[in-house]
Amino acid sequence: MYERLREAMVKKLVVEAGIQNPAVISAMRRVPRHVFVDAALGHQAYGNGSLPIGFGQTISHPTTVAVMSSLLDIQGGEKVLEIGTGSGYQAAVLAEMGAKVFTIERIQELANRSRTLLEKLGYYSIAVKIGDGTLGWNEFAPYDRIIVTAGAPAIPENLAGQLNENGKLIIPVGKPDAQKLNLIEKKDGQLSLQTVPFRRFVPLIGQKGWTT
Ligand code: SAM
Repeated sequence: MYERLREAMVKKLVVEAGIQNPAVISAMRRVPRHVFVDAALGHQAYGNGSLPIGFGQTISHPTTVAVMSSLLDIQGGEKVLEIGTGSGYQAAVLAEMGAKVFTIERIQELANRSRTLLEKLGYYSIAVKIGDGTLGWNEFAPYDRIIVTAGAPAIPENLAGQLNENGKLIIPVGKPDAQKLNLIEKKDGQLSLQTVPFRRFVPLIGQKGWTT
């Protein structure tokens, strides 16, 4: 049953959201989204909505995951830093696209739950850390790609500083109720910025983010 629902979700992403990146489409076809939410919500996992995952947090809309994953332009083999592990779904999609993923979650229970689930599903190329992602993860920097899955007041300088040459950083920035998706690229040591209007994200809370 879930396979049919997942296939319908992917068709909608292609037709309604215009997602064309074949690596994103095939990754989202493979990752069992229903196991990243509570079993009681499994039947809603393939609708285009965000769902609660506890602790006041949500798993992102499939469209959000598809758009952000497409903008990251993963070819395979990239080192990716994700801020905001949440359910672990976005990290699994990036791993399916061939990325080595380092993901940080500030809520200990979510980080531990996601780590256990990702290991159980065999995603051994994902490392999960509990902490304040606004500071990045210096130990493994630089990163070819950085994705922030919560809305920030500004681009945290630590993250821009941990971006590799020819790297891309995607982050929603703006007020708590309206953000733009910022795509930052680093070429010859210089950062350039493009913005894409986008839906509301949960807040990025931390030293270089919003305060609680
Ligand atoms: N990528 C997630 C998924 O696939 O389920 C979506 C996560 S949710 C939209 C955003 C997450 O960012 C929340 O779990 C929240 O706790 C986390 N978060 C917010 N501020 C953070 C910070 N400074 N460092 C790490 N995680 C943070």
